[in-house]
Amino acid sequence: MSDAYKAFAQGAEAQGHAHGAPPPYPRFTPEMKKTHTILFPQMAPIHFDMISAAMRQEGYQTQILENGGPEVAQEGLKYVHNDTCYPALLVIGQFIDALKSGKYDLDHTALLITQTGGGCRASNYIHLLRKALRKAGFPQVPVLSLNFSGLEKDSSLKFTIPLIRKAVAAVFYGDELMCLANQVRPYEDETGSADALIQKWQAEIGRQFAAGKGVSRGNMRRNFAAIAADYAAVPKTMVPRVKVGIVGEIYVKYSPLGNSGLEEFLAAEGCEVNMPGLAGFVQYCIVNGTVDRQLYGGSRVVGRVYRAVMDYTTGIEKMMIEAIERHENLRAPGLFEHTVHLHEGFVGLGAKMGEGWLLTSEMVELVQSGFPNIVCAQPFGCLPNHVVGKGMIAKIRAVYPEANITPIDYDPSATRVNQENRIKLMIAVAKERLEGEAAPLPVKKAEEKAPAAVAQKVAM
Ligand code: SF4
Repeated sequence: MSDAYKAFAQGAEAQGHAHGAPPPYPRFTPEMKKTHTILFPQMAPIHFDMISAAMRQEGYQTQILENGGPEVAQEGLKYVHNDTCYPALLVIGQFIDALKSGKYDLDHTALLITQTGGGCRASNYIHLLRKALRKAGFPQVPVLSLNFSGLEKDSSLKFTIPLIRKAVAAVFYGDELMCLANQVRPYEDETGSADALIQKWQAEIGRQFAAGKGVSRGNMRRNFAAIAADYAAVPKTMVPRVKVGIVGEIYVKYSPLGNSGLEEFLAAEGCEVNMPGLAGFVQYCIVNGTVDRQLYGGSRVVGRVYRAVMDYTTGIEKMMIEAIERHENLRAPGLFEHTVHLHEGFVGLGAKMGEGWLLTSEMVELVQSGFPNIVCAQPFGCLPNHVVGKGMIAKIRAVYPEANITPIDYDPSATRVNQENRIKLMIAVAKERLEGEAAPLPVKKAEEKAPAAVAQKVAM
């Protein structure tokens, strides 16, 4: 037992806790907002930098963790069972690795972790983390929960209206930057142009948030338009490229640490990448709340709240899409109101563990929008996403023969070489088709492609 753990346990006992019982976890108190640095794991680099800026302006001292490498997974394996979800193993390993680095004042450091609030294990990562902190000798470090489900009432991040508005805006700005950078980068005449615009706009949005701007409809409309105009003006030369979409469990889909630098690898292979936006996952969670009400009943007031939040996010999404559509040389993402129906004929809306029906819908949307080559990134042993990801591939291929989908499992023992070789096989097939070496596949007419709709439909 470490000295820090003993000191914490003695303190807990002195406060009246039974001898021998595990001490309670330390709470994140409101005063700690001023005294503690809050570490949180990187997931989607473009979005999280702006979300972190929004939190700093609300008085939190935040820092996104960028430590990576094999030692992170090794730290995770020391404190979490190896059959635990790979995202939990990595996130916990990243936290412990950071705390051990000596860079942080351990008495003034807190950790932030998300809880989805659904039936999946992601709701319980926080308990694994607290247990791992005790085992690793950091029992005094409080853990703050980011959730919208009323969980961890004594230790959850308090969302104020200004923080929610900034966070939602950051998600949409991040989606626009990610979408445009991904479609411009492979063709830019001057290497680095697309990435320079990401940095320019991250800094600009941070400045606007600090000045209390960037969140009103007018501000967002202007920013979306200016971002699109910047990308439309980047000089580029269009050459044939293999178009690859990425779907999967949210952490391994976006996080370079979780997916072994998948985007970078695909770019190095000369592909154009299409990564569906983070806002889609937020809207998926809102739809799931509506579906729960339809399937199991519930308060009408809650139903109206879901409706209002969906209207709010859809309004922002439409402004973003309209701004991109004004430029003929840019491709706008589809509206979520369309995406939400693409699961029909494949899986029902009741499949909402993990990324649920959204994962299937995103694969269908990618194929329909000219990205038939898809990497489906899944943590090894993630049952929900194997059902709606890998489990749907044959069914999707039956309707869309051009679909060239490869599921890739990520876990601490999977070698990067093995993962990349499987992706290279998928790219090889795509290149053959691109060069016209393979016989063209029979493409069904649009009306033939629409499978019989399943009975469940969400009232949008
Ligand atoms: S979606 Fe998969 S990886 Fe994520 S918590 Fe659920 S089971 Fe684990």
